Amino acid sequence: MGSIDKDNAANSRTVNLNAAEGASDRLSNEVSCIFVLGGPGSGKGTQCPRIVEHFGFTYLCAGDLLQAEIESGSENGKMIQQYKKEGKIVSSEVTIKLLWNAMQNSENRKFVIDGFPRNEENRAAFENIIQLEPDFVLFFDCPEEELIKRLLNRNQGRVDDNINTIIKRLRVYFDSTLPVIDYYSSRGKVYKIDANRSVEEVFYEVKNVISKYYSGKQGEKIFTQI
Ligand code: ADP
Repeated sequence: MGSIDKDNAANSRTVNLNAAEGASDRLSNEVSCIFVLGGPGSGKGTQCPRIVEHFGFTYLCAGDLLQAEIESGSENGKMIQQYKKEGKIVSSEVTIKLLWNAMQNSENRKFVIDGFPRNEENRAAFENIIQLEPDFVLFFDCPEEELIKRLLNRNQGRVDDNINTIIKRLRVYFDSTLPVIDYYSSRGKVYKIDANRSVEEVFYEVKNVISKYYSGKQGEKIFTQI
């Protein structure tokens, strides 16, 4: 077991997972995270900046980290691009490395993680390697027709916002991500939010849930269970 050299990690995206395992004890003792899960288009990317602003978390979006890797033009990035086009989920190891780097390179110790874990393998790998369980999971529940409508209107030039890929992504979500939500539900860690409401109404409820764990702007943890 080794440890991560922070400066080296900052200069390179190639942190090895043995090092991650070694450093995980230290990290898991200090770090807390919330997972934000929900179908594509359920509003995760819309709500997370509000959570950051209000509670002082650092935002980590698995999709953004993967996109940055694609844009770096690396071999890893090319493989990710191909998976994305096909609406598939990339391997846990790839995404966890990117999340791990981002956590190590942040001064903050509180993270809101958007769009990860996408499947049970992601979840188990994250918990085993990083040795961190989320404080809780926000689950944005939204009907399929609304998700499709929002994604078709999203207009951000994303290669995966076309109807064929949307249908594949929804299938992956139902088959692979819902079991993760079920897993955390069985551990009493899921807060289901009705995401089929206005952005303001959704955030109002999100704020209520998070406030029970974290107080105010600094986001200091308070140990009251909901
Ligand atoms: P996700 O990150 O879950 O894929 P986004 O936050 O990118 O979803 O939202 C998808 C699209 O739906 C965006 O165009 C966004 O502006 C819009 N959107 C997000 N939340 C709502 C909402 N509560 N009501 C209507 N449209 C929304």
